[in-house]
Amino acid sequence: MTKNIIVAIDGYSSCGKSTIAKALAKYAGYMYVDTGAMYRTIALYMLRHGIEDDRQVVASLNEVKVGFVLTGGAQHATLNGEDVENAIRTLEVGNRASEISQIKEVRAYLVAQQQAMGEAKGIVMDGRDIGTVVFPHAELKLFLTASPEVRARRRFDELVGKGENPRYEAVLADVNERDYRDTHRKESPLRKAEDAVEIDNSSLTPDQQMAKVIAIFEERLAACQ
Ligand code: C5P
Repeated sequence: MTKNIIVAIDGYSSCGKSTIAKALAKYAGYMYVDTGAMYRTIALYMLRHGIEDDRQVVASLNEVKVGFVLTGGAQHATLNGEDVENAIRTLEVGNRASEISQIKEVRAYLVAQQQAMGEAKGIVMDGRDIGTVVFPHAELKLFLTASPEVRARRRFDELVGKGENPRYEAVLADVNERDYRDTHRKESPLRKAEDAVEIDNSSLTPDQQMAKVIAIFEERLAACQ
């Protein structure tokens, strides 16, 4: 029997991590976990309850059960059993997620759950600290990058597709701000693990990127048998 591995995918916001992670999980028959959705779900809870103070955020963590359900073949995030997949995909929730993800206790709470999900291996997980903190011994680590302008354009199109009415300049400013926060925070800042394979997808089509990732995955999987 083929030995399953852990695939850790990290990178900046809106650089297509979840698209490639989902596609790779499907290809490999692995479980997919979007850790950004977990931070967003906690952020949504805090926004809904008007909880702004960090200490109060930490005190409320035990009221927040983050989960996932499969709906029509797609993975949806749940908050205390409620499907919140649409509600967490707004700029406001993304920004609050970026803020609360700086809190040590929030990270510890979610990292423990993420590590438990990977115990049986056969998993593709994407986020900011997967190859550095959650699974430092993952058999395959990918680090995705793309220019801020390319990422802002993608996020802009995604928001328009959802019926929102964003301004491109505001989305670009948001991407830059979030990059800064993700890479400069004290707790588990975003950085490329030394043994991660870096892929800049600014000028790759989704198909080209997928072909590249599958080739890397197959090579690593064979090396791990
Ligand atoms: O990837 P996504 O944009 O959904 O993530 C939302 C926010 O959650 C990010 O801006 C980042 O600050 C935070 N995050 C994190 N660690 C992860 C995943 C996401 O700090 N593993």
